[in-house]
Amino acid sequence: MSRELEGYYGSYGGRFVPEELVDALDEVKALYNELKDDANFLEELDYYFNQYVGRPSPLYFAKQLTKEVGGAKIYLKREDLNHTGAHKINNTVGQVLLAKRLGKKRVIAETGAGQHGVATATACALFNMDCIIYMGEEDTRRQELNVFRMKLLGAEVVSVKDGNRTLKEAVDAALKDLIENYESTYYMLGSAVGPDPYPAIVKTFQSIIGREAKEQILESEGRLPDYLVACVGGGSNAIGLFSPFYDDKEVKMIGVEPAGKGLETGMHAATLNCGQPGILHGFKSYLLQDDEGNPLPVYSISAGLDYPGVGPEHSFYKDIKRATYATITDQEALDAFFALSHIEGIIPALESAHAVAHAIKLAKDLPEDKIIIVNLSGRGDKDVNQVLEFIEENGK
Ligand SMILES: *Cc1c(COP(=O)(O)O)cnc(C)c1O
Repeated sequence: MSRELEGYYGSYGGRFVPEELVDALDEVKALYNELKDDANFLEELDYYFNQYVGRPSPLYFAKQLTKEVGGAKIYLKREDLNHTGAHKINNTVGQVLLAKRLGKKRVIAETGAGQHGVATATACALFNMDCIIYMGEEDTRRQELNVFRMKLLGAEVVSVKDGNRTLKEAVDAALKDLIENYESTYYMLGSAVGPDPYPAIVKTFQSIIGREAKEQILESEGRLPDYLVACVGGGSNAIGLFSPFYDDKEVKMIGVEPAGKGLETGMHAATLNCGQPGILHGFKSYLLQDDEGNPLPVYSISAGLDYPGVGPEHSFYKDIKRATYATITDQEALDAFFALSHIEGIIPALESAHAVAHAIKLAKDLPEDKIIIVNLSGRGDKDVNQVLEFIEENGK
């Protein structure tokens, strides 16, 4: 077996989990390996991508933005136009189909900001699955509206009251549930992270982004792009765009991490830029950690990017230099949030605004015949309250 089949990307990935979880992971892995090339399964997935998610998403030439910036052509892959407003639904629809084939009736997930919880609850409603979302009590308070959305969609939201009452405790509670109930229960992970086989599964479902983008750019420009740009939290929208271009060596890939209030302040979540290899949540990857290997507190203006780890395949891409990883501060992301809203009439998610901000910097210094594809991973409707508060506190 190749290392990728074993769940390794170079020396990253793998499975660092309690013995009790091995059977559950093996069961998922065996079915995934069987279904990933199964015509029947892929046809079903395609049906829901088209009819429910609204795929293919457009590859939109941002003509006004390109003109304003002056330089390379900027294209936007419009994942913001998907049902529920982001790329996350590609993964949850795919994994629920997998759960269904495994004969599971119950799906569990953890969520921090609530975006993955909402995408999971949506897919579970569609396929009539029982859905239990674990969320730290602190997060349920901060994300009241997302809790309500999940409940509207039929999910049960379990407020976790241990420890700091945030994402880490929610993960622990979900894993405990899985250990106790794995025969009836499927664990739905939200990004290209976690123990083998999850990084591979999430990549497979998100790679529809890159496959479509490739076809679309060949149609509109007759050639491949020069650059791909995507924000990196756990890394799923980025690996979804990047991986279908892996063998196209002339296409450069840039992941964009959140520099928060500035790398020098320590208030950021730039894992690949500032971390060291370590183990968290069952897999090995770059990690923001203290001297004892404990994850450091992380911060970003965008809740979807503040994770101290990163998907193992990005760690591998970084080491072999297949991709580079830049950083964008809160302020730069906000500037791009306003710019894209004004100039193109598209309000981006704050996560996606990090990618847009970097693309703007990059395009400026490139000749007009170069092409950049930016993954617009989600829409900003969810963020307008937060941005308004931020302006009121800090001025613009
Ligand atoms: C969750 C989220 C992200 C970050 O997750 P990745 O796994 O890194 O893609 C980025 N953009 C949006 C809109 C999100 O909701």
